[in-house]
Amino acid sequence: AKYVYDFTEGNRNLKDLLGGKGANLAEMTNLGLPVPPGFTITTEACRYYLAEGKVPDGLGDEVDRHLEALERAMGRKLGQTDDPLLVSVRSGAKFSMPGMMETVLNIGLNDESVHGLAKQAGGNERFAWDSYRRLIQMFGKTVLGIDGEHFEGALEALKGDRQDTDLGAGELQGLVETFKGIVREQAGMEFPADPREQMRLAVKAVFDSWNAPRAVLYRRQERIPADLGTAVNIVAMVFGNCGNDSGTGVAFTRDPGSGQQGIYGDYLQNAQGEDVVAGIRNTIPLQDLERIDKRSYDELLEIMATLENHYRDLCDIEFTIERGKLWMLQTRVGKRTAAAAFCIATQLVDQGLITMDEAVTRVTGDQLAKLMFPRFDAEAAKKRIAKGMNASPGAAVGKAVFSSERAVELAGQGEDVILVRRETNPDDLSGMIAARGILTSRGGKTSHAAVVARGMGKTCVCGAEELEVSIEGKRFTAPGGVTVSEGDVISIDGSTGEVFLGEVPVVDSPVVEYFEGKDVGDDDLVRAVDRVMRHADETRGLQVRANADTPEDAARARRFGAQGIGLCRTEHMFLGERRKLVEDLVLASGEQERQAALDALEPLQRADFEGIFQAMDGLPVTIRLIDPPLHEFLPDLTELSVRVALADAGAGEATDKDRELLAAVKRLHEQNPMLGLRGVRLGLVIPGLFAMQVRAIAQAAKAVPGARPEIMIPLTVAVQELEAVREEAAAILAEAGVDALIGTMIETPRAALTAGQVAEAAQFFSFGTNDLTQMTWGFSRDDVEAAFFSRYLELGIFGVSPFETLDRDGVGRLVRIAAEEGRAARPDLKLGICGEHGGDPDSVHFCHEAGLDYVSCSPFRIPVARLEAGRAAL
Ligand code: ADP
Ligand code: MG
Ligand code: MG
Repeated sequence: AKYVYDFTEGNRNLKDLLGGKGANLAEMTNLGLPVPPGFTITTEACRYYLAEGKVPDGLGDEVDRHLEALERAMGRKLGQTDDPLLVSVRSGAKFSMPGMMETVLNIGLNDESVHGLAKQAGGNERFAWDSYRRLIQMFGKTVLGIDGEHFEGALEALKGDRQDTDLGAGELQGLVETFKGIVREQAGMEFPADPREQMRLAVKAVFDSWNAPRAVLYRRQERIPADLGTAVNIVAMVFGNCGNDSGTGVAFTRDPGSGQQGIYGDYLQNAQGEDVVAGIRNTIPLQDLERIDKRSYDELLEIMATLENHYRDLCDIEFTIERGKLWMLQTRVGKRTAAAAFCIATQLVDQGLITMDEAVTRVTGDQLAKLMFPRFDAEAAKKRIAKGMNASPGAAVGKAVFSSERAVELAGQGEDVILVRRETNPDDLSGMIAARGILTSRGGKTSHAAVVARGMGKTCVCGAEELEVSIEGKRFTAPGGVTVSEGDVISIDGSTGEVFLGEVPVVDSPVVEYFEGKDVGDDDLVRAVDRVMRHADETRGLQVRANADTPEDAARARRFGAQGIGLCRTEHMFLGERRKLVEDLVLASGEQERQAALDALEPLQRADFEGIFQAMDGLPVTIRLIDPPLHEFLPDLTELSVRVALADAGAGEATDKDRELLAAVKRLHEQNPMLGLRGVRLGLVIPGLFAMQVRAIAQAAKAVPGARPEIMIPLTVAVQELEAVREEAAAILAEAGVDALIGTMIETPRAALTAGQVAEAAQFFSFGTNDLTQMTWGFSRDDVEAAFFSRYLELGIFGVSPFETLDRDGVGRLVRIAAEEGRAARPDLKLGICGEHGGDPDSVHFCHEAGLDYVSCSPFRIPVARLEAGRAAL
């Protein structure tokens, strides 16, 4: 195999093999941009090394050959005593993992070549010793695993109040000796003087850094596969630290925050590599480079324009100026905020660089969702006290509390609370539910707090490590001496990870106002979102419907672009003051009493449906007949038992009705209600219940011109169940002279596997992927997420909860089988999905691929589903 590629041999499409950095260095080289020459050792070599514990045979020779070519090109040899070539050894994986892995600069220096370097730089001793001390420092830390604080401490002690640039050649020479001493002491060896040996060890260290704990953690959070490995780039050194005519900087070709065009970057004179981002001195804005070195500045702007035109996207870059000569050291398509993503995509269309199709693929539903969360207003920044990880988006304000009990207690009194913990565990669930938001000082995006909060759609900032949380003391401290005690108000932004002291006002997102049809004036972001959404709508094949149970939700869903209701649940229509009617139904002792109870419910149901039909104004409305077990509508068993027991003991009162109810609750009590008497089973066991609902639908449809009801039977397992119910429903519809489709949910594996039969009795299928996931995995949705999902994520059993993103291999397979066999039996069978997955980007793509007609999701997810359906079609 070929393990080494010269920069002239690669290109940007070889990221798998050369890593992002290597592929883009090659691309820039081939564009004729000023890139120092170099070569890349492939990720394949890294994978071999990580698997076998040694580098592949022949790698050393291959590296030698490329090194010789590099030496010839540069006219000097690595570490050559009188005129040394120096190189950097840089990590670079397929996906950018900022700061996670290692890079060593100035390889090739030792006690001799340091003099050669000074000579090369026109007798600049200071520069040579500065470069040498940097090598030992980086090498010591990265390759020899010495704690960096030893070196930093020594440097600090030498500097005192001065800046690093104030250190003279003699002082830096002394520092080199100090650093060598640290290496001796900490690593028990001499700093290796042989340049080729330095390089060899650095390459191995870069390979090893793939599995450094922080890199492993980062990959897990960002869902980067663990087996890709990193490439290693060997690059001829150029020097930003040889005086004030030199320096180093980073830049973006446009603002990654807003997408605005302009000049965005930072520059540091007389500095090397990481100095800019490490914050050792204050950087200057890139614009100021114009006055320092106009020629390099102009060239840089020209190169940035070239890169944008070439990559047709925002790029970020690293550059260095060595005595007035500009060098490009890195570029890549840059990360950006959600808002910038939309603005940049449409700007690039206007510049003629990309098509609208491409613009739609350049943004994601997740980004759109981020833009829809309420946000803190601009004043917030002043009150910021810490920053953690943006674990679950949203803006939450409340009193800090430090235990779940207290959270529940205060929330019970109507207070808004933020639960603050070091980390959460399953015992905190009640507190997390009670809280407006959750803040932890430990743990990443897959910590318990983060996983559970996302599952609940609750705002969460996790891993805010600057905070010292004292649970016992019921307080935390933040940098700058801020102390927050129980009851003090804080605000947390789950979209940015920021923590603020006090109450920060929350404002609606302009993007939501736009979807709501409100006038938002002239707003660049809204205009960009509008253009992208229109194009996605034109492109997509999937329809998007809403899960909505009330006229208000239905109306909002329409404004957000729903093309119908895919799931109207009827159960909430049995709650509140209607509970009593349900009790009457359950307690009915005979046919007559039961019918009376049903007759009382019917007009109420009918009015509900009329409201929804009106709101949807001619669009289809899928109404699911009652699904949950009946006891859910009755009082709590324990509560009722206690009341009756107390009464029996003469310590309270209980009515005859209470006793009757208790008997009914006991009769209906189930060990596993989710697998018990619910869905179509209920309809078959309680005579008249489904019939009443169907009549109410039929009457409502007659009352609202243009209404398009679709009647959906839940939890079908066997076609026989469906047939029994369907016949009765069809008769009622016929009698009323109402046209309505009758179909079923597919939410059990058996229904999916017998879809060919089921389709004989169903005009449509709607995949209830919540239950289908639950029943396919055997996971109780209400219990497992908090109990063990964070552990499962850690173990990599799945990368994301199957309740969040549809499990293509298992649940998805059932969906495909059912779709295929259902359509084979009934070619015009309509297919949709109405689980939570309907609004999840990856799941929407799956539904497109599986050939469904529509996805249905909660009103707020509709724009996300529209966008992703458009992207899926491209
Ligand atoms: P990271 O991926 O963490 O940014 P890099 O490999 O890009 O690490 O290198 C770290 C720093 O060193 C960057 O600022 C980079 O520009 C600089 N650097 C890397 N190679 C060279 C080189 N050959 N000459 C000068 N500076 C370099
Ligand atoms: Mg870099
Ligand atoms: Mg269900």
